[in-house]
Amino acid sequence: HYQIMANPVAESNGRSGAVVVILDVTEQQSREELRREFTANVSHELKTPLTSISGYAEIMMNGLVQPSDMGRFSGKIYQEAQRLITLVGDIIRLSQLDEEKVQLEKRPVDLHMIASDVVRRLQDVARKNQITLMMTGKPTVVNGNPQILDEMIYNLCDNAIKYNKPFGEVEVNVATIKDHPVLTVEDDGIGIPVDDQERIFERFYRVDKSHSRQIGGTGLGLSIVKHGAIYHKAKVELKSALGEGTTVRIVF
Ligand code: ADP
Repeated sequence: HYQIMANPVAESNGRSGAVVVILDVTEQQSREELRREFTANVSHELKTPLTSISGYAEIMMNGLVQPSDMGRFSGKIYQEAQRLITLVGDIIRLSQLDEEKVQLEKRPVDLHMIASDVVRRLQDVARKNQITLMMTGKPTVVNGNPQILDEMIYNLCDNAIKYNKPFGEVEVNVATIKDHPVLTVEDDGIGIPVDDQERIFERFYRVDKSHSRQIGGTGLGLSIVKHGAIYHKAKVELKSALGEGTTVRIVF
């Protein structure tokens, strides 16, 4: 896409002409399109849980719920509210990572310690899904923001558990490879089709929309991983085979 601006000019020798400026605005346009798409997605994602919350509350308010069903109804409201909290948290994080001016504090942190803490917090979820979740490797220091690193690792582990099979395994490893700190999350779950592999890092992109909604999640997890990696000047590598499993590596 080009933007063309023309200004007529008259020269002192009587000749006249024009200065024509041709600007390549392809990048701005696609950025604008992405922004519009993002806003539309956000509105939709916010509206769905809000509509349920409002619906359940209205039924309760009108006294149409049996006392024995009260727990179930308030449970639904709670669940949808939690979903909104996670979604809004993810959106705020992404916009912070987008704003290049916002300098979140970086300091030397042990990646292994952060990952171990994430693994500990996810053990219950893993057990409920019949997944073995383990931590390997050794202390490895990177210069980073502990909160963002935590969220990145959490999102990767959460996915490795969610998109797995019963009795599957997830291994989280932190090591130094060729002088680079590397975090690896490896699962032997459902895998990602080749055609989707590049797109899963896009905001709100999900491989199987209906299935993913059931499983839960905002569709923003891997975008946070991607932008968190950019923030840490790290590289994200994805290796996945359908039906066999997925390995994500973050190379610092
Ligand atoms: P979500 O909240 O849906 O998990 P993400 O951005 O974290 O959003 O992931 C985007 C999509 O990529 C998921 O919906 C899923 O289809 C796919 N995906 C992510 N991680 C894995 C994995 N380890 N195995 C299989 N599919 C995955």
